[in-house]
Amino acid sequence: MRPTISVILPVYNERETLRELKVRLTPILEECAGGSFEVLFVDDGSRDGSDLIVDDFHASDPRFKAIHFSRNFGHQAALQAGLDVAAGDAVALMDADLQDPPELIEEFIRRWRQGCDVVYAVRKKRKEALWKRAAYAIFYRTMKAISEIDVPLDAGDFCLMDRRVVDTLVSLRERNRFLRGLRSWVGFKQAGVEYERDARHAGEPKYTMRKLLGLALSGYIGFSAMPLRMATWLGLMAALAGFLVALWAVYTKLAGIYSPRGWASTMAVIMFIGGVQLLMLGIIGEYLSRVYDEVRRRPLYIVRSSAGVEICANSVGAGEDFAEGNHPARYWRRATGGEPLARN
Ligand code: UDP
Ligand code: MG
Repeated sequence: MRPTISVILPVYNERETLRELKVRLTPILEECAGGSFEVLFVDDGSRDGSDLIVDDFHASDPRFKAIHFSRNFGHQAALQAGLDVAAGDAVALMDADLQDPPELIEEFIRRWRQGCDVVYAVRKKRKEALWKRAAYAIFYRTMKAISEIDVPLDAGDFCLMDRRVVDTLVSLRERNRFLRGLRSWVGFKQAGVEYERDARHAGEPKYTMRKLLGLALSGYIGFSAMPLRMATWLGLMAALAGFLVALWAVYTKLAGIYSPRGWASTMAVIMFIGGVQLLMLGIIGEYLSRVYDEVRRRPLYIVRSSAGVEICANSVGAGEDFAEGNHPARYWRRATGGEPLARN
């Protein structure tokens, strides 16, 4: 039988929080889903023993399942792996560090039962370093300004999605994933629920500055061509400025006005144009590297082993053309919980 609710938890070296997480999450799911749930831990190449802990969870209660990656593929890839195998009628995504309070899932489920397809959490307050809060605030606001989709402000990945939405997300196989953007992009009936984001239960943040920047770039680039268009505008502005300077030079010459002919101004112009050109090349490079990523069609993640979810050898879907109807779900066989899927 299909579970009602699947909860996906990406785990990267979260040894200290996993047990507490299970203790807080289980009673909520027992109550809201009538015990019909599955919890999918996606171990993103942890090296601190988190993998053994989640395998233990599975041994004592088969509703807890685990997927182990062959190395660290990142938070977004881990979420996707969970979506690929989740069997529930509704699927929740949340962090494993207890920054997303499990209690909010009750409210999510209530709204979902009332007919919302996507219920996402909106951070009213976050208990984090000032620079991080500022960076997030700037990111969400610039993202909203330049992107083609209507991204809700201050909404992270913490959400609950209906099966139809999950199936749609699973069919999108782009490599530079910005799930909260894709989630808005697919549409359906969406609603936000406000909450206060807690501090981490234990341990250090696993998102490094570099990973966060990469995620922000995937957001900008995946949902906006505006940075590319900037080249046109900057180019036009520079050309106009150059034209005005030329007019001024002709005028001073004709009118016999003395004007200094130092090289400083020339250098300034050269450096300005040079800078703009390099900046634009850099931006084109960012888009190009992502295009290159997409055409190589490497899998989003590689699974080393799993507990409670049976995965076929080519389950990662490397090189499969999903556009031609090769839905990745066909490459997964669910050992427990779901009906086995036919390969063709
Ligand atoms: N995480 C992951 N892979 C990574 C980095 C993070 O699976 O490469 C997981 C991590 O274990 C946590 C969640 O993603 O469950 C959010 O990470 P973190 O708390 O470091 O991010 P922050 O809350 O600072 O945005
Ligand atoms: Mg966190």
